[in-house]
Amino acid sequence: MKHAFWLAGIAAVLCGLVFSCSSSPSGSTGPVTRIDTDVVIVGGGGAGLVAAIQASKLGARVVVLEKTDALGGNTNIAGGNYAAVDPVRQRASGISDRDSVELHIRDVLSIGQYQANPALVDILCRNALPGLEFLESVGVEFEPTVYLVIGSSVPRSHHNKESSGGYMIAQLKKYAEADSNITVYTNTPAVSLIQENGRVSGVQAQGKDGKTYEVRGSRGVILATGGYYGNKELIMKYNSNVHRENPPYGVLDDTGDGLLMAEALGARLVNMNLVQMMGLSSYALPPQHKGGTGNIIVINQNGERFVAEDAPHDFQTYEEIYKQPGDYIYTVFDQKAVTASGNGAALDAEIAGGRWFRANTVQELAARVNAPPEALSAAISDFNSAVSAGRDQFGRTNFSGGRIDTPPYYISGKIYPQLRYSLGGLDVNAKTQVLDLQGQVIPGLYAAGEVVGAIHGAYRMSSHAIAMVTVFGRLAAQSVMGQ
Ligand SMILES: Cc1cc2nc3c(=O)[nH]c(=O)nc-3n(C[C@H](O)[C@H](O)[C@H](O)COP(=O)(O)OP(=O)(O)OC[C@H]3O[C@@H](n4cnc5c(N)ncnc54)[C@H](O)[C@@H]3O)c2cc1C
Repeated sequence: MKHAFWLAGIAAVLCGLVFSCSSSPSGSTGPVTRIDTDVVIVGGGGAGLVAAIQASKLGARVVVLEKTDALGGNTNIAGGNYAAVDPVRQRASGISDRDSVELHIRDVLSIGQYQANPALVDILCRNALPGLEFLESVGVEFEPTVYLVIGSSVPRSHHNKESSGGYMIAQLKKYAEADSNITVYTNTPAVSLIQENGRVSGVQAQGKDGKTYEVRGSRGVILATGGYYGNKELIMKYNSNVHRENPPYGVLDDTGDGLLMAEALGARLVNMNLVQMMGLSSYALPPQHKGGTGNIIVINQNGERFVAEDAPHDFQTYEEIYKQPGDYIYTVFDQKAVTASGNGAALDAEIAGGRWFRANTVQELAARVNAPPEALSAAISDFNSAVSAGRDQFGRTNFSGGRIDTPPYYISGKIYPQLRYSLGGLDVNAKTQVLDLQGQVIPGLYAAGEVVGAIHGAYRMSSHAIAMVTVFGRLAAQSVMGQ
């Protein structure tokens, strides 16, 4: 991988080497430096790097444009968990003959409330295991067993060696660095697409030096710019109740640039009214948990439960939180949950940092967050009765973590809903070609990753974005190369 930085003067040096220079396109003033390659990839996160490596494997020269000074995007801060039907690891986890790609497809469609594009779900689930094997082939190692996540009929969530998207990015980056076909330009946001005779043939990008660059891809352009967490205006345009004052939980450099650039050429956006808010489950367990809801309960400032903690963390759930005083929640659990999570040390660090609290009695626990102790005791006691009955007034069905009865007890600090995933995005066909308002292909333009809409529908199951990034990153590269 050639790693290029836009420094004053460098373009002149490189012009004629990896660059060729052209005159300015119509409308702009001043010289424009032209770069010619086979495939242009906008965005150097998970989908962009996977697409770059795959395209290179198919013989392409690839230029990756990344707007920030580092590769990785949201993938870098993700858990890196990856969903796939995987008979070998599922057998090793004691699950045999209970899963199939068809069941996986049904799970994704059903939890997405049938608002996903079935053709894309089919592609995701059928290619998830080959995608995982692709990651292994470039150095990403996975644990030998799988885990259950909310919405999945059976365990199929894979944790990589470090349970970290940062590890996945590091491995992809290392692999790409050794590949002379791939050139990465950081600090180089793409600002618009170049379309000639109806075909997208490149992008205009802004160099750190203030100069305009025209990057031409003879095969086409792949948009891999991620979601739009960082674009409050865009979020509020389609979903005015979402953002409030809470910052999204994601990389704020993902501002929907790919969507907007493509929309300017007439691309259709789908499911823009759908977003995913930060999951109760993610907050409910100690940091770095491994799936499930344990014996966690969620309470409001009055110490009362109000929601099924094992419900998918979709917008409706957050509407419930928005009805609570202050728009926030606390999560409560006992030592059993901590022991089961195997992450007591991480929780200790949270407690030392003042983000979580521990107490030997429920009364003391309530006092830590100024909640009424009688109400919290009643909430726990009602929950314990529900565990015994196997039935709950809020509709919770998962009681596998048992009663809350083993001190010490734990309570989180205030938890506010935060945007976690933008479910809307570009409409693409089964070759990841971007479609226009009439459903026609915009020639030369492809998309992969969170910039694509309608892959998950109304709810993205945990572990399905990293799989999606990998599957569609590869597919976009194959399609742009005519495979
Ligand atoms: C905290 C957190 C944890 C998560 N954990 C998981 C998990 O364990 N499993 C799972 O499946 N999903 C997880 N997700 C979701 C998942 O991380 C994302 O959906 C996924 O990483 C998106 O990948 P991407 O390649 O589409 O975008 P990104 O990885 O965000 O990459 C987009 C890149 O494009 C760049 N870019 C944007 N605009 C431009 C432009 N104009 N020009 C050039 N570059 C541009 C950005 O800077 C960025 O580097 C998590 C999300 C969060 C926030």
